[in-house]
Amino acid sequence: METGNLAEGRSRVNLQELLRYEFLWVDTLCGLRDGTPEAQQTTHARSGMFIKSSGQARESIQTVFPGDSPRVILQPKFATTPGEIRDWQLQQAEAETQFEEAVFTPVSMIISAVPGERDLWEALKRANTAKQVRRVCSQSKRWLRPRLEFPDGGFMEYWPYRDVLYRAAERFCRAKLDQRYPGRDKRESGDYRRVEYLARVMAGLTMRIAPSTAVELLRKMKHADQCLCWRCNAKIAPRYPTSLASFLMQFGASFRNNLNRMAVE
Ligand SMILES: [Zn+2]
Repeated sequence: METGNLAEGRSRVNLQELLRYEFLWVDTLCGLRDGTPEAQQTTHARSGMFIKSSGQARESIQTVFPGDSPRVILQPKFATTPGEIRDWQLQQAEAETQFEEAVFTPVSMIISAVPGERDLWEALKRANTAKQVRRVCSQSKRWLRPRLEFPDGGFMEYWPYRDVLYRAAERFCRAKLDQRYPGRDKRESGDYRRVEYLARVMAGLTMRIAPSTAVELLRKMKHADQCLCWRCNAKIAPRYPTSLASFLMQFGASFRNNLNRMAVE
């Protein structure tokens, strides 16, 4: 893949980052349209967070794994004697070991199906004003929300980029007026061409790049034979003859199961 080698006068763009956001937005917009089916996934290394906090009256340890409720271990209230402090240190070390084991143990997980929000996808395509786009964002219960909510009322900003649609709603509408937007493509694959175009627009807006620049950069990007990006991983254009639209049409909602997740995360 090329690194930001742009025409003179333009600033350098991190193309790898742009490509990553293109994937995240394809994923989001496809999810909005089609949802995702239940899937089994084996991971060799889970992503999680180990948060140690001190400075409060009581120290605490929090471990977070996506999909699980966060686990919190609090220092006992009256850990003042050397023995009590030692116990607490052992407990902390134990939690750390458990966390490391959890991170590096391959796990097979069933990921539940997530329904699409097709009416919101249709409304997003129809939207002409920022107000209409923002209403779609606010109505979304799943795909356009930046937060992952836990059953206990807590949350994590798990998809922070999704907030960009709300904030850049005006520019999103303007980008749909561009002649490169296949707004009237009536073919069965038309919607997936719209997903691709809009994902590129959103990747640009996420990185504060003009949508038309992002669309062009991603369209003209060269992918070397050893490129490991999500597109090359899926064996689609530009390196392979299959277009993203036909790939999405073939696999629909389960397209993610046909990617090597390690390559895209
Ligand atoms: Zn590539």
